[in-house]
This record gives sequence, structure tokens and C-alpha cells, in this order.
Amino acid sequence: MFKSILINKVDSDYQVSMVEINESSLPEGDVVVDVEYSSLNYKDALAITGKSPVVRRFPMIPGIDFAGTVASSSNSDFNVGMPVVLNGWGVGETHMGGLAQKARINGEWLVPLPEVFSAKQAMAIGTAGYTAMLCILALEKNGITPERGKILVTGATGGVGSVAVTILSKLGYQVVALTGRPEESEYVSSLGAAAIIDRSELSAPGKAIGKERWIGVVDVVGSHVLANACASTAYGGVVTACGLAGGMDFPATVAPFILRGVSLIGIDSVMCPKEKRLEAWRRLGQDLELSKLENITNEIGLSGIIQAADDLLSGKIRGRIVVDVNQ
Ligand code: NDP
Repeated sequence: MFKSILINKVDSDYQVSMVEINESSLPEGDVVVDVEYSSLNYKDALAITGKSPVVRRFPMIPGIDFAGTVASSSNSDFNVGMPVVLNGWGVGETHMGGLAQKARINGEWLVPLPEVFSAKQAMAIGTAGYTAMLCILALEKNGITPERGKILVTGATGGVGSVAVTILSKLGYQVVALTGRPEESEYVSSLGAAAIIDRSELSAPGKAIGKERWIGVVDVVGSHVLANACASTAYGGVVTACGLAGGMDFPATVAPFILRGVSLIGIDSVMCPKEKRLEAWRRLGQDLELSKLENITNEIGLSGIIQAADDLLSGKIRGRIVVDVNQ
């Protein structure tokens, strides 16, 4: 038996609790992992609160990511005792997830834990941080360099935002951080932001095209913020869109794309091919300062998860929440 968060839905009654379950309740898979840490991402908070239909099968263990060691395996790439990380692939949505002491999954989904990270550090990064790196890789792949201009990071005090600001500043970019929490300015500056702008500057309906303010964007917000971010992107710039914290809509015009040659790149971490994941984790090992990662991280146990999910969606959480599943 092992400890787990479990979501159940009986008629319209959505129930989340901490339970003890048996390994036989886990779905099929060729690798069993002793989970050490998981994390709380925006999508996990939606799943746990039931505010969005993230969970597609019940009962479900939430948790879209985890890090731990292989407990048993019939997959020749993963031996017993090997440290591993998992992000996405529908884990915590259609396949039992990481907010438990054990997980059984398809070994194809696993990435070896980079040697520079402990399991806790890997989950302090978690899916949010790995997605921030996917955005940065897309900026680079599309020709963005620090010499070409500033980068706007939206939702800067959140998980993706905090990691993006930290890495981009280390890479030599001048980061403009957008936040709705001016009281967290000192925190955002400590991560390396060169300038901070208030969320209200970009959250209302704006012009089709505006002053050229940045050459690249990491956007977690969507809606008017994404539209305005595109409208103020300089000629030949690149906007990466990975989130919907402010809304799923995109009330924009084509002006930035046809008048300035701006590119809008979609970022998905869930079904991202393995090669790109390995590259993202390698670059996280190279470009993320571990001392700064510590400042971004708050730790909780499984029993704190329901409250933390509410807090995250109410904008009360700064940075990342790492979950010690054995606490
Ligand atoms: P967090 O909750 O940690 O951060 C989101 C941040 O967005 C908040 O901290 C806040 O920052 C800002 N924000 C929240 N609500 C609003 C709002 N109504 N309007 C404008 N800004 C808002 O979440 P994550 O960083 O974990 O995830 C961010 C987004 O990225 C989510 O939508 C998530 O689903 C998405 N995501 C997508 C992935 C993919 O594969 N495409 C993978 C991972 C995440 P501040 O207070 O500083 O303004």
C-alpha cells in the first residue's frame, strides 16, 4: 500500500482526498517508479479543484510530473535504481499521475534525471520550468539573441515565468517582466528582470500594432496580454505562447505578422518529442542557477496539496511548489 492523492467523480460530486492504495490499482506500464517528488503546476491546480476538465478518467491520481527512482522495470533502457523524471504524456489526466508514492508508466515517457539535479530540484523545475526552457529553445531556434533586443516574460511571478526570467537573464537577455503583483517587484528583480511592467498595461483591448518594445516574448497568459505582446513585438521578432492563465481567447489582428514579420510559436510540453525533452533538460542543467532555483521553490507534503491548488488559482503562490510525496 502507498499514499496517494485521488480524485473521484460520482455523478456531479467531485471528490479529492488523500488515500492509501494498492499497486494493483495502477495502470499498465513497463516501469514502476518510487516517486520522491512531484510538483504543483497550473494544470494540476485545475485538476484538483475541478475548475477545468483536465481529468479525463476517474478515479485519477493527479500530478502531471514526478521524479524518483526505478523500482522495477521490464524496459531495457531503465534499470532498477535509475533516477528518472517524467513530464506530461497525459499522466495525471488519463493515466495515474505523480502525486503518489508510486507510479507505473510506459518507460518511453521517462527521461533520465540529469546528473546535476536531485529529484527535488528536478521537480522544483517541474513541467513549468521545462516548458519555460521549451519557450527559450524556440526563441533561439528562430534566431533570437540577446543583441537583438529585450524579451517580455508574462506571469512573471508564476512557475513558468519565474524560471523563464531566471534563465533568460543568465543568458544575457534584458528581461521585461509583466506581473499583476507589484508587491513582488523585489522578487522578480532578484531573479534578474531588468524592468517590471504592470499587468494592466497589457491586459485591456489594445491597438492592432504598437511601439516596438521587445524582440521576443514568453507568454503564459493568452487573451489580450498575448495580443498586445504581439502588437509591441519588434520587426522579425518571435512570440512563444504556452499558457492561458488570463484566458483561452486570442483577440488579435494579423497586423504584427504581416507588417512586421513577427512569428507566433505554440509551445506544448505534454506530447513534445523525446529528443526535444532531452535537449530542454540538458539546457536546464547548463543554464539554470541552482541558488536561484532555491529562491523560487516552496515545499509541501501531499496533505498540503488541496489548499495549495486553491491558493495557486487565487494568485497567492509565488514561484514553484515542490511536493515531497513521502512527507
Ligand atoms: P502559475 O499559476 O504558477 O503562474 C501563472 C501566472 O500568470 C501567475 O503567477 C500570474 O502572474 C499570472 N496570471 C494569473 N492569472 C492571470 C490573469 N487572469 N491575467 C493575467 N495574468 C495572470 O502557473 P504556471 O506558471 O505553472 O503556468 C502558467 C500557464 O502556462 C498556465 O496557463 C499553464 O496551463 C500553462 N502551461 C502550459 C504548458 C504547455 O505545455 N503549453 C506547460 C506548463 C504550463 P503575475 O501575478 O506575476 O502576473
